[in-house]
Amino acid sequence: MKAKKVLKQMKPYKPGKQIEEVKKEYNLNRIIKLASNENPFGYSDEVKKALPALTTQFELYPDGYAAELREQLAKKHSIAKDQLVFGCGSDEVVDIICRTFLEPGTNTIIAKPTFPQYKHNALIQGATVKEIPLENGYHNLEAMLEAIDADTKVVWLCTPNNPTGCLISNESLAYFMNNCPDNVLVVVDEAYYEYVTVSDAPETIQSISQYTNLVTLRTFSKAYGLAGLRVGYGVASEDIANLLNITRGPFNTTTIAQQAAMIALEDTHFLQNSVNKTVENKQLFLTFLDELGLKYYDSEANFVFVKLPITGDKLFEHLLTKGFIIRSGEALGHPKGVRITIGHQQDMKELQDLLHDYLRPLIEKDQS
Ligand SMILES: *Cc1c(COP(=O)(O)O)cnc(C)c1O
Repeated sequence: MKAKKVLKQMKPYKPGKQIEEVKKEYNLNRIIKLASNENPFGYSDEVKKALPALTTQFELYPDGYAAELREQLAKKHSIAKDQLVFGCGSDEVVDIICRTFLEPGTNTIIAKPTFPQYKHNALIQGATVKEIPLENGYHNLEAMLEAIDADTKVVWLCTPNNPTGCLISNESLAYFMNNCPDNVLVVVDEAYYEYVTVSDAPETIQSISQYTNLVTLRTFSKAYGLAGLRVGYGVASEDIANLLNITRGPFNTTTIAQQAAMIALEDTHFLQNSVNKTVENKQLFLTFLDELGLKYYDSEANFVFVKLPITGDKLFEHLLTKGFIIRSGEALGHPKGVRITIGHQQDMKELQDLLHDYLRPLIEKDQS
């Protein structure tokens, strides 16, 4: 049996270490996972309360159109219902976009490093991937525009960018859109949208009426805390959403995920509260990094990418033995760094003490 040729040079996605795995391996009874940008404050109590009532009728297929969730989101964003496409996480919407627009002979443009699923899914479709290095953690939009040619079908803008956390400003995005040919699809992945606090952030969903080649991706996995339920969505013009819905599998979001997402959307208190605490804890962490003398990228997300005097793998291994799981930059295309999700204040304090004890002597050596 021979699979597609391109698979020979690819590997299955390697997720962050699982909590139970680490507990056993290091004989620890408590693990703090700050590796996958999940919400440390969990998810809405309203969802929790509603759960027993949501576990009925599993014998029935879900509503493949997600009519109720669709209606709620259309209202929230002031868009038409048929501008939405749902996915088993926004991950799946990325795949749907690749399957809809990419094939051998086409190319797609991404930043480097950025969220790996754009490249992964594009390669599977046989497309060529042009990777444009970030500039100090930010997308180099000028170079990305220059890379566009007659075979370019899709450009991916991840903002805030994973793994750096840097945001594309309203002005920069407008410049990009005004200079990008309108037969090139521009996908703006806003998985961390809810955490953004700066005032010049773009409202991309509102500008889809102006730029018909724009697609915005959002998810319930991060600030809403529902990563385990797998639900995300894309917003596009009705024409593009229609194409994506042709490619989409008919029952790709579950009944329970649709219902939980609807309740989560209503609980603005939970969302605001966890965003506020995350932003506060991030600020404390950045102050700590400044004092320690470690550099990092600007972050408008719920994680910080820290630059190190050693490899990310080395720090990762050390913290693992102390019960902290973080993400090494090695797999993220930035070996001398780590990406750390902002957690509870007490956990961050413990982490800071560990970082201080382990890195302080190395930083002093580095500076002398
Ligand atoms: C986490 C993440 C996603 C995936 O989210 P799901 O909705 O859980 O699939 C998409 N894009 C970026 C940039 C992410 O960091």
